[in-house]
Amino acid sequence: MKDFLQNKIFNIISEAADEQNQECYVIGGFVRDIFLNRPSKDIDVVVVGSGIELAKRVAAKLGKKANLSVFKNFGTAQVKLNDLEVEFVGARRESYQRDSRNPIVEDGTLEDDQNRRDFTINALALCLNKDRFGELVDPFGGIEDLKNFVLRTPLNPDITFSDDPLRMMRGIRFSSQLGFFLESNTFDAIARNKERIEIISKERIAEELNKIILSRKPSIGFILLEKTGLLELIFPELLALKGAETKDGVGHKDNFYHTLAVLDGLCEHTDNLWLRWAALLHDIGKPRSKRFDARMGWTFHNHNFVGEKMLPEIFKRMKLPTNEKLKYVQKLVTLHMRPIVLSEEEVTDSAIRRLLFDAGDDIDDLMMLCEADITSKNPDKVKRFRSNFQLVRKKLKEIEEKDKVRNFQPPISGQEIMETFNLPACATVGEIKMRIKDAILDGIIPNEYEAAKKYMSEVAKELGVNG
Ligand code: ATP
Ligand code: MG
Repeated sequence: MKDFLQNKIFNIISEAADEQNQECYVIGGFVRDIFLNRPSKDIDVVVVGSGIELAKRVAAKLGKKANLSVFKNFGTAQVKLNDLEVEFVGARRESYQRDSRNPIVEDGTLEDDQNRRDFTINALALCLNKDRFGELVDPFGGIEDLKNFVLRTPLNPDITFSDDPLRMMRGIRFSSQLGFFLESNTFDAIARNKERIEIISKERIAEELNKIILSRKPSIGFILLEKTGLLELIFPELLALKGAETKDGVGHKDNFYHTLAVLDGLCEHTDNLWLRWAALLHDIGKPRSKRFDARMGWTFHNHNFVGEKMLPEIFKRMKLPTNEKLKYVQKLVTLHMRPIVLSEEEVTDSAIRRLLFDAGDDIDDLMMLCEADITSKNPDKVKRFRSNFQLVRKKLKEIEEKDKVRNFQPPISGQEIMETFNLPACATVGEIKMRIKDAILDGIIPNEYEAAKKYMSEVAKELGVNG
């Protein structure tokens, strides 16, 4: 075990603790991650006594290199050394009241402190005092659970989850992040206590959702959220995608599992959180746009636009950023069918130019999303789509090199149109401007000033405007 504690910071903490005659342990996520071989920079140290006093002594020993911050109100202190952050806290005992996840805290023993942890694998402690340096304290069989990839609460899960319902989200997030299984009692207790999630702030829920989305295979987390019943409470629009209806013998695919397949597929190619959110939300408008008619079967007309319009409310309610991140996700949701349509049809230069113009710098992200969206069970179909997609990508590249429409600015401004024809700001100016833009995107004229100016005169004449 001592090998894991090679960093000299542990020797310094050890010395300081012995000098103060305080029992001290490194505990929680850092210890778990040692065994999982996941390097981490956040170290939590528990002291049976005063965390602040120990932190002060450690900082004094480290001298100028270290940075000490004391949070008196919380009884904690932090020492920063280069990129390491060590958090010191006194061992505590917690008791909860029904309406808050903030416990009443008292000084306690190491055992009390381990009892309040969320999962056995997060309750492991390694002693730092010299005579017991590296000794593992594992009262709940956390090492065994680590070996078996199991998440289990140290105490009765109903109490653990009801006390602090955020732990339910954390458990599901760890499943997704680490590829662990929720032990069946623990899983059942989440399902039983799901309603308790209401006392957790939206921000904290969003933080856990983001961590699920950033994990290697987010479908694990979302399927657990669905199975435990939490999804219905925190994200009903996503749950609404679930199910495959059949009418007159015609079915449609289950859009919940399809969405998760798209998200998992995309995650193999990008770590971009908001691109991943776009994958999760790309079909969110489908339940509201779903129709059946005898001739067409199931249709989801305009589900991309319906979805785009749903997003501001969803982001606001879930306390996700309602700034340019929302705009970016909206743009991808709106445009998510455009490349696939192009790959199905004869691809015209004009259609490619329009796509480049509408997507701008997000074109590569959009293409990545669309490629992940091809999830047919028919391998021939997937193959055909993918090769057509290669064609679309090639065309995009050619046209962008030739015409530079990706960040296209019309060569003639509304101002210039007004001055040339002596017009006030009016619909006619807008129309002339749009016709010039369309002519460029359709390849009728090149993307150049002189050509645009000539074209402007022609359009003006046609509209009966005299300069
Ligand atoms: P990560 O850092 O990846 O989010 P972590 O397990 O290290 O995961 P932290 O928030 O850093 O999580 O917390 C450190 C430790 O504190 C945990 O390992 C766990 O022992 C304990 N802990 C954190 N949050 C809770 C909670 N809500 N309930 C019980 N114990 C918790
Ligand atoms: Mg941590």
